[in-house]
Amino acid sequence: MVIREIRAKSILTKSNIPGVDFCINPYVGCAHACLYCYARFMKRFTGHDEPWGEFVDVKVNAAALLRERLTTMRNPQGYVLVGSVTDPYQPLERKYELTRGIMRELAASPFDVTVLTKSDLVTRDVDVLADFERCTVEFSITGVDEEVAAALEPGAASPARRLAALRELHEAGVATRVFVSPILPGLTNLYAVFEAVRGFTGGISAETLNVSAADWPRLAAAFRKSFPDRFPAFRENARSPDYWDGVEAEFGRLCAELGVPASGFYRH
Ligand code: SF4
Repeated sequence: MVIREIRAKSILTKSNIPGVDFCINPYVGCAHACLYCYARFMKRFTGHDEPWGEFVDVKVNAAALLRERLTTMRNPQGYVLVGSVTDPYQPLERKYELTRGIMRELAASPFDVTVLTKSDLVTRDVDVLADFERCTVEFSITGVDEEVAAALEPGAASPARRLAALRELHEAGVATRVFVSPILPGLTNLYAVFEAVRGFTGGISAETLNVSAADWPRLAAAFRKSFPDRFPAFRENARSPDYWDGVEAEFGRLCAELGVPASGFYRH
């Protein structure tokens, strides 16, 4: 893993994501190294030669920069997503505490905030999050299967740890959501996800696998190696609109039957 400390020039960036006004990414790159990651396009802005998942740039001035920006900003308002192209609670956050500093600054601001993560390290900051009324912690998961997670998202917290963190934050009074991101054909058991999260989340959303943004050769190779029997169906269904129609219908049915509010279903 190549780690560089850098000084960012900006931290609160305007967003093109529908419904999101600004994004904050305390790191560039992500040690979670998910093989389906849609954010790997960021690599071309970094000067790194290493594959996605094997480098992280640490914006050591992130919290101070945000504080400065907030004090000079005219009429700060809107919706901020923390972690659009990196995981703000990836392992380096334990040492650098950049996201913790950012959340403290945002808690004193008028912004509505969502922090998106595949890590249980977020529970470290429960003291900040529990007093932050306009904040939601959104947990991203692909399913509850530990073997799948170990094969395809090798650096992220296990599903069991993420689910335990979801419950812990919910019980501490922190608003939570779940994002099934992405649904992996043949591997993601939506029913099992709903069963695991209902009662602990204010909503659930999901997205289809973004085949064109993923590193398809590496993803396909890892899938075939770990789940050879399921690979042919995966390859066929990943690009099949009919398959995704069925998954979207199942998602809607599970929301209704199991009483989990739907926050969105996104197709790529
Ligand atoms: S945690 Fe998110 S940003 Fe990090 S590698 Fe996985 S999908 Fe990409």
